[in-house]
Amino acid sequence: MIRKFSNKIILAILLISVVTGLSIGYISLNKYKTSVTQESYSRLRYLVESYGKDFDSHIKFVEQYTALLHAITTSTFKIGETVSDQQIDNYENRIIPLLNEIAVQLHPVSYWIIFNPDYVKRGHTISFWDKNNNGHYEREKEYNVNHRDLKSKDMQWWVDALKNGSTWTNPYYWDNWDANLITYAQTYYDKGRAIAVLGSDINFNNLKKDIEKITLYKTGYFWIFNDQFDFIYHPKYINNNIINIESGKFRFIKDSIVQVGKQTGIIEYELGKQEKVMAYYKLHNGWILCVGIPKEEIFEELNKSAFYIGLITIGGILFSIIVGLLISKSITKPIDQLVKTIRIAAEGNLKVKTNITTNDELKELGNYLNYFLEKLEINIQELKDNEQKLIEAKNKAEESEKLKASFLANMSHEIRTPMNAIVGFTWLLQEETLSKQEISYYTTLVSSSCNNLLSLIDDILDISKMENGPVKLNYSLDKISSLLDEIVFIYNIEFEKYKHKETPLHFYSLIDPEINLLTFYFDKLRLKQIITNLINNAIKYTNSGTITFRCKKYNENYLLFYVRDTGIGIKKEDQELIFDRFRKVENKNREVIGGVGLGLAIVRELVALFKGKVWVESEIGKGSTFYFTIPIITNPEDIGPMEQ
Ligand code: ADP
Repeated sequence: MIRKFSNKIILAILLISVVTGLSIGYISLNKYKTSVTQESYSRLRYLVESYGKDFDSHIKFVEQYTALLHAITTSTFKIGETVSDQQIDNYENRIIPLLNEIAVQLHPVSYWIIFNPDYVKRGHTISFWDKNNNGHYEREKEYNVNHRDLKSKDMQWWVDALKNGSTWTNPYYWDNWDANLITYAQTYYDKGRAIAVLGSDINFNNLKKDIEKITLYKTGYFWIFNDQFDFIYHPKYINNNIINIESGKFRFIKDSIVQVGKQTGIIEYELGKQEKVMAYYKLHNGWILCVGIPKEEIFEELNKSAFYIGLITIGGILFSIIVGLLISKSITKPIDQLVKTIRIAAEGNLKVKTNITTNDELKELGNYLNYFLEKLEINIQELKDNEQKLIEAKNKAEESEKLKASFLANMSHEIRTPMNAIVGFTWLLQEETLSKQEISYYTTLVSSSCNNLLSLIDDILDISKMENGPVKLNYSLDKISSLLDEIVFIYNIEFEKYKHKETPLHFYSLIDPEINLLTFYFDKLRLKQIITNLINNAIKYTNSGTITFRCKKYNENYLLFYVRDTGIGIKKEDQELIFDRFRKVENKNREVIGGVGLGLAIVRELVALFKGKVWVESEIGKGSTFYFTIPIITNPEDIGPMEQ
């Protein structure tokens, strides 16, 4: 079974080409055959007609000559009961020069008058013949004709001429002249008496030679019947009647000619296994001139042509097959391409494109397919993106769930620790036996725990404010040095206790002198909150070494602050995350290092409010540097819209 579309088209084109080619070949061959048959039949008919007419004129000529003889005789010969010798002599003397003159012009083989012995005393003949066939007539010696002679087989024409008025003989051999003759004889009547028979002979050999000379195709030949269908001339059946040859199997020719009754016609018949065709023409004396030929000779030419027609047909079929294949290729190639493209697309590669170059509907189809694939790809990409977003949202939700849980745990830890200290030491303070020193120490611890709690509550309040809407900065024109001096002062005192640790921690501040002169618009409290947050973190996550606070100009319009420590450092992948809310990086010292993960989130929000930028550089184990910038706003109109 043929499944492929292209194969189906090719097969259809092959079938159409072969069927069309064969039909055209068959039809044209048949047409050609019919026209060749008609043409050759009419040629055959034309041939027999033209020879027949020739022949006829020959016969007519003899008859005319005899009629002339007859007329001369009638006008010159007066006879009584019997013809006297005197009369004949006179007749001879008058007629001979006349006849000779005419004979020279008309040229028969011979001409003669034979008188009826019933009316002529002496058996008398007058005859002339062209002995040497050169137009010189010689008078034959007169000979007697008696009744016995006239009844001989050789002179049947005498009997027939008396009976019918005139007659044509079949060819016969005439001993005296050693020639094959045919004779035309006519009776001369006077007052109802047959006085003489006049006539003329024709050398049949001459006629025969003429007929034999005619060649028709390869083996075609002529023959002649008389009115009784005796063969007057035939290459094989001469002097036979058609009924008597080959057990009468050619009788149908006679029947057909008689039945049709026309002067000319065509008869098709079979001889042995050979198909033959003959044409005939009736001469005016009742003879029939025929010509016959095997059909295959006529069609030999046709067969040759059929061969060429066949060759041309096969050529045509081959040509149309080639053209058909080319056309089918041009149809099936783009279809194959479409199928291939769709298959590749179905396997998942939507980037595949068709490139059909035919300028037709298939190209349009290809373009639509490309367009469809592009759209599909975009839609699938959108679906994927959405899916990715959903996954991310889900991850985020899970993450925030986790963060919330850890936040609560941290929170309770962060609240409980100072609360326990407060409760514990407040209880201890009730002891009456406490020394002044102890009381002061416990009071300091209670107050520091209170501060921790307060700062935690501040952070929570801040972040919840930020959550509920943008927090507004409270700008006022101030000297930056007043804030920086305060911070440095506080931390110098704070660090006193770290200096004397077993693993000491030192605090350095580097404020560029030009900064001290700067006066601009900023929110002092919030800037302090940012800086202390960063320094507190640095203290929290640094065991020993140094913590450096620095402030300098970033560019014309911005100040840069940074807090650098020699602490535990932050992994690269966590450096962005730590700015998220509740985000705390897992580390070994969790127990020791407190916090709920809000500090840096607040820092980021605040720096953003300042229209500044915050970032971190850090290496695990070596330390971290937190940078941030804020704009130097000297014109109150610039508050708000300024971008870095
Ligand atoms: P926390 O209350 O946990 O300190 P923060 O938002 O201030 O919350 O900080 C978030 C996380 O960033 C911290 O848990 C810590 O892991 C990391 N971190 C912040 N500052 C530093 C620093 N100076 N050195 C190392 N890690 C730091």
